[in-house]
Amino acid sequence: MSEVKSDIQIAREAKMQPINDILAKINVPDESTAFSPMGRHIAKINLEYLDTLKDKPDGKLILVTAITPTPAGEGKTTTSVGLNDGLNKIGKKSIVCLREPSLGPSFGMKGGAAGGGYAQVVPMEQINLHFTGDFHAITSAHNLLSALIDNHIYWGNKLDIDVRRITWKRVMDMNDRSLRSININLGGVANGFPREDSFDITVASEIMAIFCLSNDLGDLEKRIGNITIAYTRGKKPVYAKDLKAQGPMTVLLKDAIRPNVTQTLENNPAIIHGGPFANIAHGCNSVIATKTGLKLADYVVTEAGFGADLGAEKFLDIKCRKSDLKPSCVVIVATIRALKMHGGVAKDDLKTENVEALKMGLVNLQRHVENIKKFNLPVAIAINHFIKDSDNEVKALIEFCNKIGVKASLCTHWADGGEGTKELANNVAELCDKNENKFKFLYENKTALFKKIETIAKEIYRADEVIADTKIREQLKSFEDAGYGDFPICIAKTQYSFSTDPSLKGAPTGHSLPIREIKLSSGAEFIVVICGAVMTMPGLPRVPAADSIKLNKDGQIEGLF
Ligand code: ADP
Ligand code: MG
Repeated sequence: MSEVKSDIQIAREAKMQPINDILAKINVPDESTAFSPMGRHIAKINLEYLDTLKDKPDGKLILVTAITPTPAGEGKTTTSVGLNDGLNKIGKKSIVCLREPSLGPSFGMKGGAAGGGYAQVVPMEQINLHFTGDFHAITSAHNLLSALIDNHIYWGNKLDIDVRRITWKRVMDMNDRSLRSININLGGVANGFPREDSFDITVASEIMAIFCLSNDLGDLEKRIGNITIAYTRGKKPVYAKDLKAQGPMTVLLKDAIRPNVTQTLENNPAIIHGGPFANIAHGCNSVIATKTGLKLADYVVTEAGFGADLGAEKFLDIKCRKSDLKPSCVVIVATIRALKMHGGVAKDDLKTENVEALKMGLVNLQRHVENIKKFNLPVAIAINHFIKDSDNEVKALIEFCNKIGVKASLCTHWADGGEGTKELANNVAELCDKNENKFKFLYENKTALFKKIETIAKEIYRADEVIADTKIREQLKSFEDAGYGDFPICIAKTQYSFSTDPSLKGAPTGHSLPIREIKLSSGAEFIVVICGAVMTMPGLPRVPAADSIKLNKDGQIEGLF
């Protein structure tokens, strides 16, 4: 067998087409009013042009999610890109909508976020590095607000902000643990009032969540104004609009908010826009990007972060609720390797055929299928094929899926591109076209906040109970009293288990959901419920990927992926 090429080798060999040719495929005219090219292979679509498409009917929305992640890898992005190429291959007009990768992890753990093998979006180096500068714009907007807060205090603190109760931190798009807890304004009277502060990574910024949930620039500005930045000495909330920050912050974001179009290795359109954390935020690309896709194509394939218990639930209950999006079908990505791990096999033993372990691990997939059906959505299974998977294992998986009434398709997009997902594409298109869309949310807006948390815990995680002390319950009550009772819930917990214990694989029962902390995202408009440790500023590993990244003598990047 020939040598397996690395993602970057494959990406470099791509025959990219000029971006205006890609846009022509989805009928976007080659005019300055429609889009602005950012180099030869990337473009930003103009919001004014999108306005002209208002009355066009929407395409069908397909959500790609996955079983509970394991270190064996599932490949949601890779499968999203592969499915988009497959749909185009069977003659459907389809776009894939993905998140923009964060810069931090690129220099920490090796691995890009632009797909893999022959199912990638390109130009992958730009996409994984600075891309169109959107994250830098978000970082700047966020830090402008931080600067305005300290400046307000410096010049007399008319709002009576309690410097011990400032909730707005600073952000940077880099993994740097040394900034998790810092002292600022040191050095004397001219530098302000010393206080504690901290940095998060940009993707954890509430601006990122707002950016991705806003329907338009007006909505973006309104939500930024509503961000809670601090509390006064009398414990009253202070908002960004109290500092008139929403105007200049929106100015900094006005170009970033335009969706970026690139292409897959097979020259099909891909929109890559926004990228919020999947734990303290909802983990999917921007609403504006998804809606753009729906106007420009008949099918839109999009991905939600983590496993379906977190990513799909938040996509459906947060993103779709806020934006009136109605998915037509959900694809659950499963791999033989990950299912065997859910069945008890150690990572080092995954290469050996083990049908029995696979069968034991199927409970995880089954529960995710049952969960998605609670939203009244049709499900398709994508078996993301790895070269070491055995025929017997694949057969056992397909038989099981037949038994539980869902169709599973073996997908070889990583090795074969769109040719490898034609069966899945046909299945997905058929499910979408049946048009039996009875999509419903898991809970209603008016349900009490604690009850919403309980519904997710019991229906999706299958926990017996939610544990919350009086302080948490009182805080929820105070959010309701302040008018935030109709916000959806954004749970931050481990992605490695249905429970809060990452070591409980498969489909655990008999567990509870202990709430450690809750936070109000009054701009993004959801309540974050933290159940376990969440890291909002990652660190670098002992030997970071940065160790081997450099430009070679031909000016090419080495060591990135
Ligand atoms: P996710 O979106 O679920 O986090 P990705 O699609 O980004 O996962 O894939 C994670 C990594 O696994 C990527 O480096 C990708 O190249 C690799 N990968 C995905 N599918 C396959 C496959 N079928 N065979 C080999 N490697 C794969
Ligand atoms: Mg991904």
